[in-house]
Amino acid sequence: MAFVITSPCQNEKAAECVTVCPVDCIVEGPDQFYIDPDICIDCGACKSVCPVDAIEEEYDLTPDQETYLEKAEKFFENAH
Ligand code: SF4
Repeated sequence: MAFVITSPCQNEKAAECVTVCPVDCIVEGPDQFYIDPDICIDCGACKSVCPVDAIEEEYDLTPDQETYLEKAEKFFENAH
């Protein structure tokens, strides 16, 4: 299970989440920030500080938002 950054981040990239993440698993990508689903420990700190409410728990994603989990997995596949 992991938290996932969704579409509101794409115009915002506020980065508050990066500083609060205790395991440093949030990385800036070209279009938005991404959470590494293999490292996220589900603490929820990022969700509570996001000013645009872009972060959701994996199991709370709507069908439209599930693509953002796939985007994150692809992003880190290429980065690792
Ligand atoms: Fe980091 Fe916690 Fe957010 Fe996961 S839920 S990305 S561990 S701050």
